[in-house]
Amino acid sequence: MAMVTHPEYDDRYWRFVEQVTVNGKNGRGTATREDSALWRIITSGKEAVLNYRVRFHSRETFREAWRPFLTSKGGLFGGPHSFMYVVGATLAPSHVTIEIPQDWRIATGLIPTSDPKTFFASTVSVLVESPIMVGSFKSWNFSVDGVPHHVAYWPLSSAASFDSTALLSNMQGMVQQGSLLFGRLPYREYSFMLLDSSWGGLEHNNSVTLGAPVDHLQKDKKDFLNELSHEYFHTWNLMRIHPVEYGDVNYKKQKLSRGLWWSEGLTLFYADLLLRRGNLPVYDSLRIDHLETLLKRYFNSPGHYKVSAEKVSEAAYGETGMLGDYNASTHVQGEVIGSMLDIIVRNATNGRQSIDDVMRKMMERYSGEKGFTSSNIEEVVEEVCGCDVTSFFNAHVKGAGIIDFDKYLSMIGLKKTLSWVDALMDDGRPAIDLRTYAFQKEKDTAIYIAVMDPESIWGKAGLHTGYHLISVNDKPVKTTRDYRMYLAESKMGDKVTVKVKRPTGLHSASVIMTGYKRPEVIIEEMPGATEKQRRLRKQWMEGN
Ligand SMILES: [Zn+2]
Repeated sequence: MAMVTHPEYDDRYWRFVEQVTVNGKNGRGTATREDSALWRIITSGKEAVLNYRVRFHSRETFREAWRPFLTSKGGLFGGPHSFMYVVGATLAPSHVTIEIPQDWRIATGLIPTSDPKTFFASTVSVLVESPIMVGSFKSWNFSVDGVPHHVAYWPLSSAASFDSTALLSNMQGMVQQGSLLFGRLPYREYSFMLLDSSWGGLEHNNSVTLGAPVDHLQKDKKDFLNELSHEYFHTWNLMRIHPVEYGDVNYKKQKLSRGLWWSEGLTLFYADLLLRRGNLPVYDSLRIDHLETLLKRYFNSPGHYKVSAEKVSEAAYGETGMLGDYNASTHVQGEVIGSMLDIIVRNATNGRQSIDDVMRKMMERYSGEKGFTSSNIEEVVEEVCGCDVTSFFNAHVKGAGIIDFDKYLSMIGLKKTLSWVDALMDDGRPAIDLRTYAFQKEKDTAIYIAVMDPESIWGKAGLHTGYHLISVNDKPVKTTRDYRMYLAESKMGDKVTVKVKRPTGLHSASVIMTGYKRPEVIIEEMPGATEKQRRLRKQWMEGN
């Protein structure tokens, strides 16, 4: 028996498993822990009942929305945090029976049975991808295209209230856009598990757990809807259309994926687009503003064009420091690449097709067991656009290089202006270049330095990511927080001495604290655009 490792959020709940006992037909069997997440069960009579306990914390506030908890009012459990499976039998179906107080309710993506407290999972993967929320929470339902959607809200205080009618109508509008894009909804029913006083979220097979602080729901809901739309879009892009490295459940260390630029980047792209198409609250009122913000983020970290999208994908859940002296977000890089591919497709097909058609084809082809590689995406894009994107994929996905935005933006009659301005603090004074941080490695107490840009004052002082950090101004660095605090004490113009141990020996670097530049991007309509450019621009701006 084993416990599943999540490819991205391996919370290692095998640490909290206690009292494993086995009872067979002919008496007691044995359970021996062979590895952290693996038990060998010996029994006779070809059947056995395995009992175990898993200890959850009871913290209700400031928690990650996907982490299990259990209080006297209810809780969240299930998933890889709770269930063991029989190694080698990952296609085995299972039933889950939940014993709870009379007045508690249950929310889960698992399939209901004739017993209201018993649920069905067709495979181990479905079982661990379907968390269960119980308690006296609020709940509502809505349907889209006849498909039921359940919304459960875990309030911290019963006094906290918000306009649930408006919230439900927004959620329904978002789901409707997903259905319109793909032509149908890919599940039998869907459960939204929303938790007050929590942050983050995690997508699942036909459900999501999501932090929904009540004050976010009382205001304009932009933060909430943006996160919700992102996690919800993962129902297609990641849960179904998945990278080749994300195979069936496993208890071993998971492979890093080279395809997350697509899974995360395009999900970010559509998180905005679903809301925009549904006339729901978005961060940037115009699509052009959204692209400006995105390009600012792209230029802000040179890692986005100095490191290939495949490598940045791997680093997303790999060890800290994998990208050397660069820092990059697979979300940002992937959304930029997706945005350019969208324009390439529009241009090549004279506006008849867009990245929507690519996404639909990806769903047709890669939503089964078979996952995709970057080359598969390249093939699908080429099929849709009838054009050659090999050089684009080689330059930005498999290799690294700055994107020629003027070339692509002009295809839809837009142009960008990039300038560099002094980075400022909230109070308007110049900000010190603090593009460095400290980190630890797994199973290691040492503190290491990370340089986020080789052109930063830290990189220029000869420091490199991965050097063992000894002291700052002779004050020993014992924790990652020490490093942050010592740097925060320094002022503009100060000289800071950073002592590190590098492969060749000890080294003291002198860093003068100075300011730095950040990118400013303006995207505007290109004057003198052709009829085609104007037509494609209008279509794009309207979010079609
Ligand atoms: Zn995501």
